Amino acid sequence: MNNYIKSMDAYKEAVNLMPGGVNSPVRAFKSVGLNPIFMEKGKGSKITDIDGNTYIDYVLSWGPLILGHADERVIKKLKEVVEDGTSFGAPTLLENKLAKLVIDRVPSIEMVRMVNSGTEATMSALRLARGYTGRDKILKFEGNYHGHGDSLLIKAGSGVATLGLPDSPGVPESVAKNTITVPYNDIDSVKYAFEQYGEDIAAIIVEPVSGNMGVVPPKGDFLVKLREITEQYKSLLIFDEVMTGFRVDYACAQGHFDITPDLTCLGKVIGGGLPVGAYGGKKEIMEQIAPTGSIYQAGTLSGNPLAMTAGFETLNAMTMDEYAGINEKVDRLINGYRKAAEDFNVPIQINRAGSMVGIFFNDKEVTDYKSASESNLEHFTLYYKVMIEEGVFLPPSQFEGLFLSTAHSNEDIDHTINAARKAFEKISSL
Ligand code: PMP
Repeated sequence: MNNYIKSMDAYKEAVNLMPGGVNSPVRAFKSVGLNPIFMEKGKGSKITDIDGNTYIDYVLSWGPLILGHADERVIKKLKEVVEDGTSFGAPTLLENKLAKLVIDRVPSIEMVRMVNSGTEATMSALRLARGYTGRDKILKFEGNYHGHGDSLLIKAGSGVATLGLPDSPGVPESVAKNTITVPYNDIDSVKYAFEQYGEDIAAIIVEPVSGNMGVVPPKGDFLVKLREITEQYKSLLIFDEVMTGFRVDYACAQGHFDITPDLTCLGKVIGGGLPVGAYGGKKEIMEQIAPTGSIYQAGTLSGNPLAMTAGFETLNAMTMDEYAGINEKVDRLINGYRKAAEDFNVPIQINRAGSMVGIFFNDKEVTDYKSASESNLEHFTLYYKVMIEEGVFLPPSQFEGLFLSTAHSNEDIDHTINAARKAFEKISSL
């Protein structure tokens, strides 16, 4: 048995300092009935907590660490850059460097603005869409999470789904009434909403692969239809690629599915583990932002030199071959899980996009929030507890995906599969 004595002590102190002892809700491990585990260090695919327990990490800081922890290339450059100062509040060459890379790689992005988080990226992109179109309403999907901005915290996924919270108190009715929410993968509902409100809808915002109700990929031509409908009604199509960007493929989900949104939100991998978000798109739209345009958005630390460096080094290291390499590891993991589930007769569904994987304890296909929420949470909780004892650190919620990095080895994968076999054996005897 792992011991968590130091984590328990740290948690007892933290609950009096921060709400729930954490700075972001899902870190509290509430939904799996555990207490938060305090981490000390990470290297490659592994992390170690303050009690000295080591785990194979499939959380990877909730997605950003596609090269694994403390990658030598990233750390070396960060050390060089930090010696020259941490922030200037004036432009640096590092911002041009990362912007150029993003513009080169993401088909729809002609201009980009750096911010500090995914939430900032989506909030800013929405303001831009509203300012550009002169319309107030937006359409989002149930179980998609776009950060905690007021307009977007309606029927959201991620921690909101994990904690079973209704729409958050504190979001004014006057704001919420402009957010239309329909089921993911349900194009008829989108059409119906546009028939009712099309002339007032500034944008559709969508996770091109949803990663915040577990992983749920788009079905059939869902994304193509979203592009068609937004064109028809002169609304903007915003891809929230905070999670999928540079994660599911070299050129993000839009490259993978060959769809050109008007605006794209980025976060996570683009910062390589430091706080970065970004939004970008057509030049004509992006130039409406101050100082070229009148739509205001700013940031004291935006384009921070350390953050730009970690982002650039991470993306630069992620060649197409590296993506192919991670995908092979994901295949190995999925095949092992499928066999284990069959051997122990445990119904699971596995959804996957690149190195984002969703394992649902569910006997039916998971295509939207409703089907995701019909998963067996008792099975998930037992699985989670066995995995953590076996040294496998997973997102502590059925409604979050897991991630792989280039640092995960075949041995890591095989250890994980063996741990899952133990968990499934226990589930089968429930
Ligand atoms: N959009 C998506 C798709 C996300 O997954 C997240 C975070 N999980 C966000 C936006 C918000 O990003 P951040 O937590 O950096 O504010």
